[in-house]
Amino acid sequence: MATDILDVIRTKRDGGTLDEEQIRFFVSGYTEGTVADEQAAALCMAILLRDMAPDELATWTRAMIESGERLDLSGVGRPTVDKHSTGGVGDKVSLVLAPLVAACGAAVPQLSGRGLGHTGGTLDKLEAIPGWRADLSVGEIVDQLALVGVVVCAAGAELCPADRKLYALRDVTATVEAIPLIASSIMSKKIAEGTSSLVLDVKIGSGAFLPDRFVARRLAETMVGLGQAHDVRTVALLTDMDAPLGRACGNGLEVAEAVETLRGSGPADLVEVTLALAREMLELAGLHDVDPAEVLADGRALGVWDAMIRAQGGDPDAPLAVAEHRHQVVAPVGGYLQRLDARGVGVAAWRLGAGRSRKEDDVSETAGIVCLRKPGDEVEAGEPVLELHADDPALFEPALAALAQAVVIGPEPSEPRPLVVERVS
Ligand code: URA
Repeated sequence: MATDILDVIRTKRDGGTLDEEQIRFFVSGYTEGTVADEQAAALCMAILLRDMAPDELATWTRAMIESGERLDLSGVGRPTVDKHSTGGVGDKVSLVLAPLVAACGAAVPQLSGRGLGHTGGTLDKLEAIPGWRADLSVGEIVDQLALVGVVVCAAGAELCPADRKLYALRDVTATVEAIPLIASSIMSKKIAEGTSSLVLDVKIGSGAFLPDRFVARRLAETMVGLGQAHDVRTVALLTDMDAPLGRACGNGLEVAEAVETLRGSGPADLVEVTLALAREMLELAGLHDVDPAEVLADGRALGVWDAMIRAQGGDPDAPLAVAEHRHQVVAPVGGYLQRLDARGVGVAAWRLGAGRSRKEDDVSETAGIVCLRKPGDEVEAGEPVLELHADDPALFEPALAALAQAVVIGPEPSEPRPLVVERVS
């Protein structure tokens, strides 16, 4: 009997498992437009409520990959390894990690997206660099990987078109949160980009996409399983995102902090998370004898950063634009900074112009927040804790409203939180 879309929806609605024919019928039909949005929405909601079995999800993910092209990176001449972060506040790890791992001998094909909501996107950050371009052809990607060892660019329309449509639909049907749909969305794009191995940075804590550790672990386990089912060696680290990573939040501000880190004077938390991920990536790539801490300290990673920026039309020596207006948030009392809530800071940076609400929006290169104090620091009453940057001073008021509960000062320092919380393999 020919497959029918109503059968597919009914199967999942009633708690059944979709077979390969049903999955392929749906994914290709939705990509090509023969399955309607309302039918796809019903299926996404049924998946959110009923979940998917591991084999069913692996088949679903394969169908998503096969809706478009899969890059062939076999000619780049180095082991390929990528990293994906579920997104955090001040999370500029990729900017340091990608050139660092390339400087250690791997090829890093980082095909990225833009930010939506309170966490920033890597492409938005790099676009603060004068001349830098995100859109490369497949030929340019492969050539740059062979020559420089790293490319950070936009995933083209040929990669997973099914995900592009489904993600937009999930966004307006309250089905983004379904673990199998998140896992297949992320992993289909990473597998299609052609990497042989992958390290996932799954954030937990207030600033994370999935704040709850148990839900985040389930997502990590699901994604690691999908990688392995598609012969991509995959490991996940659960890392803390309760406070912003580093001091800078906002596109140009984060680029400046990433360069500072590549020059050897980055904030300790950013360096720790970057090196933990670098070690996992190098292990998966089979590069066991190289110490990423040494490669970061001796300037080799900075050299690869310069080459990567130049290869994509940017000038790594050009000064970054700065915001016209600044406003400082001061400590109301003396004591210890016990908490700096990542979500509050992320939402405030977004309201200052660093992030977008709709995917068509522009972002500011200069807006954002600098955390002058970090959790654990002692502060005096009246001392500046945060510095807000904006192109339009009218944006300070809504940003300050988001920060109302974000700064917690108490008489004792709080227990430091571990940055790398768990490893899933
Ligand atoms: N990021 C993605 O690429 N897909 C999701 O579903 C969620 C986050």
